[in-house]
Amino acid sequence: MSSFRLTQKEMKDLADRFPTPFLVVSLDKIEENYDFLRKYLPRVKVFYAMKSNPVMPILQKVAAIGANFDVASAGEMEILHSMGIPGSRMIYANPVKTPRGLDNAAEFGVKRFTFDDESEVAKIAAKVPGAEVLVRIRVVNQKAHVDLNTKFGVAPERAVQLLQLAEAAGLKPAGVCFHVGSQSLAAGAYEEALLVCRRIFDDAALLGMQLRYLDIGGGFPVPSSKGLPVDLASMMEAINHQLERLFPDTEIWAEPGRYICGTAVNLVTSIIGTKERNGAAWYVLDEGLYGSFSGVLFDHWDYEFEYFKGGRLRLSTFVGPSCDSIDVVRSDIMAPELSIGDHILVPNAGAYTLASATTFNGFALASMLVWEEQRNCRMETAVS
Ligand SMILES: *Cc1c(COP(=O)(O)O)cnc(C)c1O
Repeated sequence: MSSFRLTQKEMKDLADRFPTPFLVVSLDKIEENYDFLRKYLPRVKVFYAMKSNPVMPILQKVAAIGANFDVASAGEMEILHSMGIPGSRMIYANPVKTPRGLDNAAEFGVKRFTFDDESEVAKIAAKVPGAEVLVRIRVVNQKAHVDLNTKFGVAPERAVQLLQLAEAAGLKPAGVCFHVGSQSLAAGAYEEALLVCRRIFDDAALLGMQLRYLDIGGGFPVPSSKGLPVDLASMMEAINHQLERLFPDTEIWAEPGRYICGTAVNLVTSIIGTKERNGAAWYVLDEGLYGSFSGVLFDHWDYEFEYFKGGRLRLSTFVGPSCDSIDVVRSDIMAPELSIGDHILVPNAGAYTLASATTFNGFALASMLVWEEQRNCRMETAVS
């Protein structure tokens, strides 16, 4: 499945009409990603992890195609509530919840929560009595790009005990969840986690707790500057096979973030300055680490650059526009000779980019254009 990618002409047409830097999202691609997951994991109910990209067009699209939402804060719930999305379509999947988050959950009808410590039980029970809770377990995965199992998840052998404590407090012990880590490049981590979950389901049943939901979290990968070293279809097929084998009758959920939005967005940035440094080329971009390239820092990401230019390659470093020396986007890569005003297209720029961007130093956030709207605009202008 290929990523959404503007052609040079399409990029130029947009850059003629909008100042860079800007992002372009293809909502058709969001839907394609969703459909692909539903095809290969047909039993999975999708909860989009909105932290990966919470812009309104994406949230509206995800809601329109029938997905649900993984929320982590009071603010995320407020955004969805203002869109008219009921709490029954949300899971509050932050293992530790704020007082305001729990108040919002109670008000908006969010009744599903994850937790990974005893200290959370009384908090949930006080604000949302009778809520359904899923215990988050820690899983092992060396092949994830972003580790989510140091800060999160209880040791599997303590999971049943936590569910019992929840039940004793009047909550409904409803399931088990895990997150193999973001950008996971192996089905094996999911397969092993499912084995561990099966044991927890069985142990819980022996104690009279019939668990209903298994939440396999997020983690599905997208291409980086080096491409995508796994075949997504076979990865999902392997997970599905294990689900069929171990959980034939359980309702299965997943919380994809990166996978849904990552490949659906292109960033267009321009060169605003050039320098020579020790025989290498340095290029200053109008977007940097404090903007949509925030993923370089927070997501440890290496973005692919498309220059639409041939010729001799030179050792090059690309930096952002701010007055901070940490603001280096890509260093010591081979790139064609570029000049001020040249555009660079960055595909796969949808996840953990704009979501964690700041306006440090007074640089505005990149605007987000919707490709399906712009494409039509362009055709209309061409006709008139
Ligand atoms: C961040 C997060 C996700 C999404 O992870 P991706 O790797 O982007 O798919 C899902 N669930 C939880 C609880 C998360 O914190």
